[in-house]
Amino acid sequence: MPIDIENDDLKTALKKLKARENVLRELESVSGLGSWEVDLVANKSIWSARSYEIYGIEEGTPVNLNTFLDRLSDENKKLAHQKLQEAMQSGEVVSVQIDTKKEDGTPITVLVRGEVIYDESGKPSKIIGTTQDITEFIQIQKEAKELAELLERSSNEIYIVDIDTLDYLYVNKGACNALGYNKDELLQMNVRDINPYIQTDEIKQLKNTLLSKNNLLNRSIHQRKDGSLYHVQSYIHTLQYKGKDSFVIFDIDISPTIELELQYKQQTQELQYQAYHDMLTELPNRTLFKERLERSIIEANRHKNNFALFFIDLDQFKKINDSLGHHIGDKVLIEATKRLKRSLREEDTLSRLGGDEFTVILKNIKIPKNAATVAQKILNNMKEPIKIGIHTLHISASIGIALYPDNATNMDDLIKYADAAMYKAKDEGRNNFQFYSEEMTRDALSKVLLENSLRNAIKEEEFVVYYQPQYDANNNTIVGMEALVRWIHPNIGLIPPVEFIPLAEENGLIIDIDRIVMKKAMKQFVQWYEDGLNPGKLALNLSMRQLSNNHFITYLLQTMQDYNFQSSWLELEVTEGQMMSNPEQSIRKLKRLSDMGIDIAIDDFGTGYSSLSYLKKLPLKKLKIDQSFVRDLPDDDEDVAITKAIIAIGESLNLRLIAEGVETKEQRDFLLQNNCHFIQGYYYSKPIAADEILRLLTPQT
Ligand code: C2E
Ligand code: CA
Ligand code: CA
Repeated sequence: MPIDIENDDLKTALKKLKARENVLRELESVSGLGSWEVDLVANKSIWSARSYEIYGIEEGTPVNLNTFLDRLSDENKKLAHQKLQEAMQSGEVVSVQIDTKKEDGTPITVLVRGEVIYDESGKPSKIIGTTQDITEFIQIQKEAKELAELLERSSNEIYIVDIDTLDYLYVNKGACNALGYNKDELLQMNVRDINPYIQTDEIKQLKNTLLSKNNLLNRSIHQRKDGSLYHVQSYIHTLQYKGKDSFVIFDIDISPTIELELQYKQQTQELQYQAYHDMLTELPNRTLFKERLERSIIEANRHKNNFALFFIDLDQFKKINDSLGHHIGDKVLIEATKRLKRSLREEDTLSRLGGDEFTVILKNIKIPKNAATVAQKILNNMKEPIKIGIHTLHISASIGIALYPDNATNMDDLIKYADAAMYKAKDEGRNNFQFYSEEMTRDALSKVLLENSLRNAIKEEEFVVYYQPQYDANNNTIVGMEALVRWIHPNIGLIPPVEFIPLAEENGLIIDIDRIVMKKAMKQFVQWYEDGLNPGKLALNLSMRQLSNNHFITYLLQTMQDYNFQSSWLELEVTEGQMMSNPEQSIRKLKRLSDMGIDIAIDDFGTGYSSLSYLKKLPLKKLKIDQSFVRDLPDDDEDVAITKAIIAIGESLNLRLIAEGVETKEQRDFLLQNNCHFIQGYYYSKPIAADEILRLLTPQT
């Protein structure tokens, strides 16, 4: 229809129309809606630019209703017709979502809305409407739905939790299945309800990490509705859920993994145990033995310690094994192990190298004798017959001993030497121990034997006391006696103290010996006094060990009381060396004795290193000049000078002086001239038995 542009009204109308069209275009491009109009009378359609764009048809291409209908599937075409019908009849806006395709065949989904316009006679003349491409939206919706379903159906537990309250906002089926609660129950619950072991601190920490890192992995323990527990590994992520700050938690039940881990750990531990132990006796095997030995060397080095290595071989084992079978052999080995263990301390390492070969690492062996004592103990323990079923078996062992660092400082040599020593023990006729060095064997053996018989001697009181009188050289009268112990061994006879006192000092047996001497000597002195004789003072040798022993004073008082022995009769001799090894203690302990009226003499004076200040503080009454200075008097200038000096010290400290070891008249005279008039020595008398003393004390008629 031609347009008369002269008509002003029309011009204005056209202008307005143009303006509206522009507005529509803009609206279209903002909303993405394409608009269209179908002229039912002319069977022509007018599409907006966006409409063309949605279908991928070049703008301006003539279109009609079929352009829309033709690209629909039969089913959708039916739907479209139905909707068209509906629109015709209702006169209202009708919408339909419909799958169609672009010009190039790409499938799209569109939402079409349309309304029928009627002419004056009430006949439908046009349809106007919009088309919206909702392909993407539908796709997103579909994916979201799939995702939600996936979450729901996941066998993992998935929870969404309110960040503040820790209440559950969402739980999936997996969570319900795992915990045994239904969804409604769980949604009434809180993270703490299913995590019975979680601590408030832990929650705080998890929250902080999450807020700074957004996600984390965590392990925890869940409790099911029935109370049972299981381990979970959680992956936690922060999330906005329904407008709330939330955590989403993905939990996997890792109980089976943990179980496996545990099994694996146990298995490796077991394997490791097997790799390092002998299965029969459960002792460390050769591998572990070597490791321990290596470590012992390092430790001994670091702490400047000694240790001993034993190689032990059972003597009759092969015979037992061959004649009675492995079954019995194994039992013997197990019994031997028990006995070996019984002979050792906790810190010693007993190993089985194989067969009937054992080793022991004995830590902290200060002197070879200690190793020998243990070896002797092992031999003793092995002696007992072993009863297995009807058999009574006798076994013994041969032991080789090497010492670190005396014999060797490296592992291989140490092993070699202990092994060699063990063969030496076999050569010596089995059932004995040998040190790698012969000298040590002899030494240790005699010491061990000595110690054993010394113990026995104490039990049997195989001691007698000899007395050596002390004289005042001015008038040749007896002023006292030194009690000197003698051991009368049932087989050997008299054993002098130098043979056993040092060992007794070392192992503490001196305490018992001194008590025996004290008892016997006091009893004897009381007897002499009661018999009207005057033996003077009893000088007892006292080991400092005795003084450190708390019960000593009690024992001393008790013994004095038992025999009615006066404290004024007693003089205790302590050597200078022992006194000065701990002067403070000596001062304290000796003071108590001196307060009781007992005289204290310092023995072997001149051999130690006394400081004058200590000498002044010690509660001394008497100073005994050591016999080593007396021996070469009066010819040796040096000894003369020393003796004179000692006498000067004694005088300045106001002490009585006595010289011991005086054998000659010259010695006696020299001492007398130099103001030391108390004399003890062979010149007057050797130490002698009590009955001989009796003759000296009894006035000659
Ligand atoms: P000691 O206390 O210095 O005793 C003196 C030692 O010198 C004694 O040796 C004695 O027999 C010896 N002797 C005495 N006069 C002479 C002499 O003129 N010439 C020579 N050459 N020697 C002389 P003994 O009895 O063999 O005792 C040795 C050491 O054993 C004692 O030295 C003492 O330290 C210790 N002892 C002896 N009996 C006991 C005791 O009952 N208890 C304690 N703890 N030690 C004792
Ligand atoms: Ca003495
Ligand atoms: Ca002495």
